[in-house]
Amino acid sequence: MTEILVSHEPATGEELWRRAASDVDAEVEIARRAWPEWASKSVAFRTETMRRFANQVKAEGEKLADLIARETGKPLWEARAEVESVANKVDISVKAYAERTSNRRIEGAMGLRNAVRHKPHGTLAVLGPYNFPAHLPNGHIVPALIAGNSVLFKPSEKTPATGAMLVDLFHAAGVPPEVLRLVVGGPETGKALAGHPDLDGLLFTGSARTGLALNRQFANRPDKILALEMGGNNPIVVWDTPDLRTAATIVVQSAFLSAGQRCSNARRLIVRDSMADQLVAEVRDLTNRLIVDHPHADPVPYMGPVIDNEAADGLTESFLILMSNGGQVIRHMTRPVADRPFLTPGIIDVTAMAERPDIELFGPLLQVIRVDSFEAAIAEANNTAFGLSAALIGGTPQLYDQYWANARAGVINWNRPTNGASSAAPFGGVGLSGNHRPSAFYAADYCAYPVASSESDTLRASIGVGLRDDERDAPKLVRKGFL
Ligand code: NAD
Repeated sequence: MTEILVSHEPATGEELWRRAASDVDAEVEIARRAWPEWASKSVAFRTETMRRFANQVKAEGEKLADLIARETGKPLWEARAEVESVANKVDISVKAYAERTSNRRIEGAMGLRNAVRHKPHGTLAVLGPYNFPAHLPNGHIVPALIAGNSVLFKPSEKTPATGAMLVDLFHAAGVPPEVLRLVVGGPETGKALAGHPDLDGLLFTGSARTGLALNRQFANRPDKILALEMGGNNPIVVWDTPDLRTAATIVVQSAFLSAGQRCSNARRLIVRDSMADQLVAEVRDLTNRLIVDHPHADPVPYMGPVIDNEAADGLTESFLILMSNGGQVIRHMTRPVADRPFLTPGIIDVTAMAERPDIELFGPLLQVIRVDSFEAAIAEANNTAFGLSAALIGGTPQLYDQYWANARAGVINWNRPTNGASSAAPFGGVGLSGNHRPSAFYAADYCAYPVASSESDTLRASIGVGLRDDERDAPKLVRKGFL
């Protein structure tokens, strides 16, 4: 029997969308067959199609933002910002394609030239997460299509409606329906897609757990491209600053933006012991003022619910585990609405805990760690197998240099939140946060491969050394008067 996928609104529990799971084999065959023709179009043609897509997104922007807000629970203002990022991705990707994977010609002596050109891989799968259900998969899809790949996009089973609308907008803009396929389904569908023999690669954004499973699945397939964008256990270090209020604001933004459901949210506040009490009090006071409510509520909320009750249950359980293992509660994490996944942000001091779990707690939960030296702060920041984002708040240029040089992360910020990343820069992490194929501006790199060609308009060849005389050359030499 065909599996039916149903999407619910986290804030209300109401059903939003339902559709039967896709037939992976049939979808791959369609995309595979469509690829050569799409690849043979000019880059200008594909770029123009993407520009029409950006216009479609702008025209349908409010509808898309409303759907994202309903399906993820994020506030409408944040969903609107996500839609803007989706439209802006086109110009950024066009620029990135030109800068990082455009054609180059290197003129050599005697009419010889060396050319560097890029080719698309073929048919790629994109697996998306639920937290940015349009922007993050779009960050793979647009560069993949510009480069000339056909794409199978499987949105998260928690946000399939947004994925379906995104694909509709591409089709409305003129991307042939066969070139971009929507694949509906959950983890099993993702697994089947990832293991399909006719796929040339997979571009993934999601949890480290799934990323590791995919890495294993691709272990004996070095012929396929695999880009993994995974989670983090991100540190924010606060050091000598007189402006505790602003420092606290940056900490709160880092920890609780998007209800803590950003890969780049700060999970661990590392603070100098001598200023910890004052800073933590500022952070707690500001957190007390955050409005947690429905995405469309008035007054406008800072954050909505987390994605579902299972996620909320897991986070409240994690909070209790930290508490019962020596964590000192600064602010309780509570469930204000029975049966709905709204969470008030939790803050807990885990300095005294002997063994702190190095896991990504993907929600509004901040752990505080006090240290007495800057070296200890750096060591604590690196006390994780992940390495996505890290920030230093306060300090001096010299301390920032020291932090930058020693922190192991793909995004390192100073006096800015951990989640302040520009789409015009690469975005990715080290350790368990990725496999050294950063996305955002560098997504162009994994959507095409370089081909080096040495070329000449005429045939020209000679072997200058190590040859025996050839009698066929003798008459010529006689004619020329050498013999
Ligand atoms: P997830 O790993 O649960 O799911 C991501 C996608 O993988 C979904 O489409 C899912 O159906 C699919 N999937 C799950 N198991 C699979 C399997 N075994 N084989 C193949 N496919 C499978 O991630 P999520 O919970 O939707 O998203 C949140 C996570 O994403 C967090 O860990 C967050 O840090 C991370 N994330 C990372 C970035 C980044 O750029 N580094 C950005 C956003 C989110």
